[in-house]
Amino acid sequence: MKVDVFGDIHGCFKELCTLFEELGYEKINDLYIHPQNRIPIFVGDLTDRGPESIKVIQLVYKMVVKEKVAKYVPGNHCNKLYRFFLGNNVKQQHGLETTVAEFEALDNKMQGHVRNQFMRLYEEAPLYLQLPEVNAVIAHAGIKQSYIGRLDKKVKTFVLYGDITGEIDESGKPIRRDWAQHYRGNNWIVYGHTPVLNPRIVNKTINIDTGCVFGNKLTAFRLPEENIVSVPSLQPFNEEKFRSFPDA
Ligand code: MN
Repeated sequence: MKVDVFGDIHGCFKELCTLFEELGYEKINDLYIHPQNRIPIFVGDLTDRGPESIKVIQLVYKMVVKEKVAKYVPGNHCNKLYRFFLGNNVKQQHGLETTVAEFEALDNKMQGHVRNQFMRLYEEAPLYLQLPEVNAVIAHAGIKQSYIGRLDKKVKTFVLYGDITGEIDESGKPIRRDWAQHYRGNNWIVYGHTPVLNPRIVNKTINIDTGCVFGNKLTAFRLPEENIVSVPSLQPFNEEKFRSFPDA
């Protein structure tokens, strides 16, 4: 098995298509197929903030649920959109408002289709993926070694939101622990969630959220080759959104 793990897309449909082409995929019947049958894996956060969230949902639904040629794990933005579609009272902020605006511009019939597609995609998704064939675990915000194999609430919070302490800093952002520094496993942990200017490798973990929606680039990590492939973003650059690490 050979896989290409895609970082956070956040509605950047054009960049996603360009990255598929860059990776050698061919567009056949409105989905992307690799001539060597590589498996695309989406690391979550398909929607919000970017220009074409609905198109991303439709493509990922088709590839993952309908044709079963790709895999997907949910991110925190996916969880929130799912709760919106359930009819829960979620705050339309942090980018959800852009997806909702796109959604509400659709006619009733299309709204029904898109809602059903996304809800089914989310409901059928594993919380994270264990891929022994390529020695990797794929989880949106990463996963602690001791959590691999578990599916309880603590693990769900971790894989969706990261290693948060529950406290916020003076700017109102959640305080996060740097779990990757403590990882000692032999499997790759491939994750996204926290925008970084360049893929960040610490121990055997790699953050591939290179902040496409904030104007940097969209990145894929290929296994077992351990190659990184990125395409430039078409969005305006917003430097303050990128996290710098003391070790970077
Ligand atoms: Mn994200």
